[in-house]
Amino acid sequence: TWTCLSCVSSSAAVMSSVLQKLVSPMTSGPAEPPRNKVTVVGVGQVGMACAVSILLRVRPNDTHTHTHTHADKLRVLGLIPRRTTYLVPPGDYAVTANSRLVVVTAGVRQQEGESRLNLVQRNVNVFRSIIPQIVKHSPDCTLIVVSNPVDVLTYVTWKLSGLPKHRVIGSGTNLDSARFRYLMAERLGIHSTSFNGWVLGEHGDTSVPVWSGANVAGVNLQKLNPDIGTDCDKEQWKDTHKAVVDSAYEVIKLKGYTNWAIGLSVADLTESIVKNMSRVHPVSTMVKNMYGISEEVFLSLPCVLNSSGVSSVINMTLTDDEVAQLRNSADTLWGIQKNLKDI
Ligand code: NAD
Repeated sequence: TWTCLSCVSSSAAVMSSVLQKLVSPMTSGPAEPPRNKVTVVGVGQVGMACAVSILLRVRPNDTHTHTHTHADKLRVLGLIPRRTTYLVPPGDYAVTANSRLVVVTAGVRQQEGESRLNLVQRNVNVFRSIIPQIVKHSPDCTLIVVSNPVDVLTYVTWKLSGLPKHRVIGSGTNLDSARFRYLMAERLGIHSTSFNGWVLGEHGDTSVPVWSGANVAGVNLQKLNPDIGTDCDKEQWKDTHKAVVDSAYEVIKLKGYTNWAIGLSVADLTESIVKNMSRVHPVSTMVKNMYGISEEVFLSLPCVLNSSGVSSVINMTLTDDEVAQLRNSADTLWGIQKNLKDI
């Protein structure tokens, strides 16, 4: 076989002349890095739901999905009609470079008979292989941790990354609060956006519903029913919070895992960050020296999210009982964290 040198040179000339005629360059340097690149690490059920929800809701200009998973799941995600979505083979972190935001959903699941601490330690080992690579390629990124136990793994990520605390965020109780608002509003016969209520603290079983602040149009429900949320309450409003805690177990019983609700919740957080919105979300942040907590633990408090990550924390007025519940969660988390190795 041979190649016609005149064809090669004339097609090169045509290509360059089309480009030269089409474009008047304004800069001579290399292209600027993308400003809203989002990477999702770990494409299991949750990672896939996060990536799809972010693409549909936020449409960042460059979404990379870094995956450690197998071909079936890659094909499903590959169907999204979006030119700038990439699925990346395991270990290839260079393509995640200059990410604005990195969502971490990778993790291992609990095995039969395995203790929680053992599971956490195995996830620490997974995170040791992921977090330094992310930060090496995207030193200015903000990290959202989703893998469970999310509050402990957010602390682990903060330690492993060396990033400032405002740029390491756990998805926390943003999801628990959305479920709480929906269920409370349904019982009151109003739209969920018209019920103001917060679930704070540890994501999951020991989350803290802030009954003292629950209100509709500024009308405080605790003033209408001083027993609200307690065992003595004749109307048993605390069942609503119990339903929030039970909902993940119920979904897992029905379909084996949870993914879409957390995917939409993470897209919500992503939107606030990449669009610099300064919306207030309950997310997991470093709470040392707040509400009398003396250890370096991550728990959910109302946080202002914008392009800085967590730009500030709202000093919510809590009752003594609510503060005691937060401190109790902090003690439990510290009990786990202080025994972790290699972070
Ligand atoms: P999954 O098993 O379907 O997916 C986990 C993925 O992590 C797999 O694809 C696996 O290949 C990947 N992975 C493992 N090690 C990796 C590594 N070193 N690098 C890159 N990827 C790696 O699990 P899932 O159902 O998607 O759940 C993921 C995590 O999210 C779990 O920890 C789960 O408990 C948690 N979760 C959190 C919330 C929340 O509200 N925070 C809600 C639901 C699930």
